Amino acid sequence: MIDPFGRRVDYLRVSVTDRCDFRCAYCMSEDMTFLPKAEVLSLEELERLCRTFIDLGVRKMRITGGEPLVRRNVMWLFEQLGRQLDNGRLDELTVTTNGSQLTRHAADLYACGVRRINVSLDTLNPDKFLAITRWGKFDRVMAGIDAAQAAGLAVKINTVAVRDFNEDEIDRMIAWCGERGLDMTLIEAMPMGDIGLNRADQHLALSDVRQDLAQRWTLQPSDHKTGGPASYVTVAETGRRLGFITPLSHNFCESCNRVRLTCTGTLFMCLGQDDAADLRTPLRASSDDEVLAQAIHAAIARKPKGHDFIIDRNVANPAVARHMSVTGG
Ligand code: SAM
Ligand code: SF4
Repeated sequence: MIDPFGRRVDYLRVSVTDRCDFRCAYCMSEDMTFLPKAEVLSLEELERLCRTFIDLGVRKMRITGGEPLVRRNVMWLFEQLGRQLDNGRLDELTVTTNGSQLTRHAADLYACGVRRINVSLDTLNPDKFLAITRWGKFDRVMAGIDAAQAAGLAVKINTVAVRDFNEDEIDRMIAWCGERGLDMTLIEAMPMGDIGLNRADQHLALSDVRQDLAQRWTLQPSDHKTGGPASYVTVAETGRRLGFITPLSHNFCESCNRVRLTCTGTLFMCLGQDDAADLRTPLRASSDDEVLAQAIHAAIARKPKGHDFIIDRNVANPAVARHMSVTGG
């Protein structure tokens, strides 16, 4: 699949649920309304959609959410997608998780062919962890990371940088990741969905964080590229990779290789735009995968050139109306 700007789209992110067992302050409001179950695709429907994307050239898939590992029977989907790894039609299957269910699922994920996972963790302080996730249990996430590493999964830590919350902890987290053999990515909070707070109060420019870190750590340029919004360095002191996802201070759209599917079968061609294509209607209208393939091609033809994120203190509404938990980041 090639979009109108000549970019090859071979990476699909799939949000398998909008629900979550946490309520992270930058992601959700405390009282979220979730989708009625009837609107959510069955795992069989999601699998058929994923298979059609693979038929069309998708080589890499990431399962996300909401919290993907709270969806009932989600391991069935991993097993089906794992078969696509076995037969060489998929190169990589990954997952982004808050870590709360990893003690239960880490070994099964490995058995399905998953080799790398992202675990979100914004602080190493249990009280602050409870404050930012509202409902999360720190010890359980730590046990989950242990289980993942014991199962043989490479773990990357995703940390959202939040002003006046964790900026003073980033050094400690880099050191901790070094000791534990974990890569780490710092993420700038993006203005997605109403969270009951002013986004400008949370925003911390990672360009400033990076400059500050460079005074204490040797940040060596790395040519590691994912086609995504992260730029990477290697921290010489720890030997681990450190990524910076900076959608607001940098534009990363020229090399974008991905689209995002929600659990209702809606395809977002860009994380930072509201335009989307409904794939549930063609999915349910016909058992012919060709009908679905045509709908996907039509959607890719609408992939926009870039995102429209802006954080403006004087504008009350978020730049993108949906929450990150809809498309999974
Ligand atoms: N629940 C899983 C988790 O937390 O890893 C997967 C879904 S979560 C929406 C995916 C990633 O998006 C997490 O790393 C989370 O920290 C990040 N995220 C959520 N809301 C965000 C926002 N408004 N700006 C930037 N990153 C955000
Ligand atoms: Fe849940 Fe992940 Fe959003 Fe936190 S960031 S509320 S864990 S979906």
